[in-house]
Formats: sequence, structure tokens, C-alpha cells
Amino acid sequence: MDTLDIYTSSKNYPVYIGNEIINQLTEKLEGYSKLYIITDKHIESLYLQTLQKYLPDKETHIFIAPNGEDAKTFSVYEECISFALQNGFDRRSVVLAFGGGAIGDLAGFVAATYMRGIPFIQIPTTILAHDSAIGGKVAINHSLGKNMVGAFYQPEFVLYDVQFLTTLPSREKRSGFAEVIKHALISDSRFLQELMEKVDSLESIPIHDMQKYLRKGMEVKANIVHLDEKERNIRAYLNFGHTLGHALEANAGYGNLTHGEAVMIGIVYALQLSKEVFQLPFSIKEFVSWLERLGYKWRIPANMDYDAVYEWMVRDKKSVSNSPTFVLLQEIGIPILQKVDQAILQKTFHLLQT
Ligand code: NAD
Ligand code: ZN
Repeated sequence: MDTLDIYTSSKNYPVYIGNEIINQLTEKLEGYSKLYIITDKHIESLYLQTLQKYLPDKETHIFIAPNGEDAKTFSVYEECISFALQNGFDRRSVVLAFGGGAIGDLAGFVAATYMRGIPFIQIPTTILAHDSAIGGKVAINHSLGKNMVGAFYQPEFVLYDVQFLTTLPSREKRSGFAEVIKHALISDSRFLQELMEKVDSLESIPIHDMQKYLRKGMEVKANIVHLDEKERNIRAYLNFGHTLGHALEANAGYGNLTHGEAVMIGIVYALQLSKEVFQLPFSIKEFVSWLERLGYKWRIPANMDYDAVYEWMVRDKKSVSNSPTFVLLQEIGIPILQKVDQAILQKTFHLLQT
């Protein structure tokens, strides 16, 4: 088992990562009075029994949320709060988020707001969750926008057992690994090089290597968040690929493209813009041929209309003064925030569409 220490202004906490480390949970829950597990239907059928083997002998209640994004609604949130009240949870209780990013976001928001905040623990089960479990952002969705109601709230600890990743559907693997690739691109050319040399299929990454890549990705995120917890400046680097990514997600309706699939197209767009603006020294051709081997689509879908996508990019909550700001790379590992000329945005969009 490996431990990564996370430092934030409100608290410092450990991330434990390893294969088959779920047995470590028992002793770590000793201090709490009651356990409140929030998970989803997929995880319930695959892993709830495994988890239950390692719970200490304490009063435990389990809430099963719908799978995926359907968990992050006001109505599910309200059900979670009612469930907590009915079962008499208080500030000595603890919420266990057992699942992917959607469960982490929902359960974290429940923990942040129930009785003005009770402890919570993240037990991630997806690759994507190496990203969502770090940084303390928790949220549910509003019909007018994703993640629009939330808080900054840190867990007591994260216990990341990579054994759970083996059952992830390919599409979810791709979606989550896009953020690993992002973390490499914005921080460290050697990390990127290692990924490009060693990873030839997302289905056959040895578990030990996967653990190493996820740890490294979490470290990149943790370092940035440590310097800028509340997203005043450099935390925006984590949005590399996300300006177009969010717009494509919104434009296609959430559901057609997974988050990571949309972000990967956004990453290629941001790389191409970086070439236009900073002559980024990097072979995009080699990069996209690697992406293709991993099963990613990187072209902007032909039916996407530039003007519509542009409107979404401007509306993105991270853009300042009505013109979209992009995270670009001056070099691999050296991100910078940059406004980009309309003409370049449009030309590059069409270049990647065909
Ligand atoms: P998810 O939680 O929706 O999980 C994806 C799907 O995989 C679900 O159907 C789930 O039931 C299933 N699943 C989960 N673990 C599994 C396993 N081990 N085996 C088989 N199936 C499994 O999604 P995600 O991709 O982990 O996270 C996406 C969410 O994370 C989005 O809501 C996004 O907004 C959020 N997010 C939050 C942050 C943050 O900083 N808080 C960062 C990035 C993303
Ligand atoms: Zn993302």
C-alpha cells in the first residue's frame, strides 16, 4: 500500500492506494458511531458484499443511488438527507462514498451539508475517481447546469483499492484514463512519455502500473490544488481540454459523449491551438495515433456546429469577459492561461473536424 498526503487549508488527509487493501478499512473506522454508506446499483451488485466483510461491527445503513449522473439530482440528494434523519445520523457518524465520481460528488455534498457537515470517506471504484476524489469539490447538478450546487469539502481519507477497477466497462476506462493523460500533459513530459511507451491498450495495463499512473495523476492534481484550493488562478490548469470538452458534452447532450471522451477531443484541440499560438514542440500526429490505438476518437464530430459550440465555450463558467480562455501548453508540462483569437479558434475547429 502506498500513501499520498494531501494538504489543504481546512485539513490534511491521506490517500491510501494499493491492490486489495480494502481490509485496511476496518481499523480506520473505529472512531465513528454509525456508518452511512452511499453507493450505486452497479457497485451494490459487484462489491457491496466485499465491502461489508471489512466493516467494523457498528450500526450501518446503506443508501443505493441510481447509477452514474442520475445520482447527482436534487431529488436523490433529498432522499439521502431524509435517510440520514430517519436513521438518526449525527456528527459522530461517517458517510462512506463507495463508487465513482458521481457517488463521490453526491455523498460528499450530503456529508458537507447534513447538519452543517459530518465526516466523510471516499472509496473510489473508477479510474476517473483518481481525479474527482482529490480537491474537495463536491456537487449535484441543476437543470440549468452541471455541478452548479456544491461545496468545497475534504474527506477524512481516501482508500483507493485498484482491485475494483477490473470490472469497469471499456468506455469508463477510456473516460477516466483521459484525465490521467491530461495530468501528464500539464505536468511532466517524462510521465507522458512513459504512458505513450508503455500503455498500448487500456484493457491490459498491469495492475501495479495502473496504481503507479493513478498515484502520479493524483499527485499532479494535489500539488496544483494545494497551491490554489479555491480556483483563483492555477487550479484552472486542470481544465486543460475542458473548455471545448464541456461545450461538446453540453452540445451533444450529456450522455452521448462521456466526460473523458469529450475532454480527449478538447485536449487535441488545445494541443493544436498550442501549436498555432506557441509553436508547441510536440508531434500531435504521433499522439493521436497513440490515442487511436487506445480506442479514443479525437476528431470533432462532423455534425457539430462551430457557432453553437462557441456559444457554449463563452458560457463556460471559467471564461472571463465573454471570450473563452484556454489552457494551452508552451511546452509539455508547462501550461498557461491564454485568450485565443476567434479566427484561430474557428480555423483549428474545422481542421480537427475533417
Ligand atoms: P460514475 O460514478 O458515474 O461511474 C460511471 C459508471 O461506472 C456508473 O454507471 C457506475 O455505476 C459504474 N461503475 C463504477 N465503478 C464501477 C466498477 N468498479 N465496475 C463496474 N462499473 C462501475 O462516473 P465517474 O466516471 O467515476 O465520474 C464522473 C463524475 O465525476 C461526473 O459526475 C463528474 O462531474 C464528476 N467529477 C467530479 C470531479 C470533482 O473534482 N469533484 C472531477 C471530475 C469529475
Ligand atoms: Zn474532467
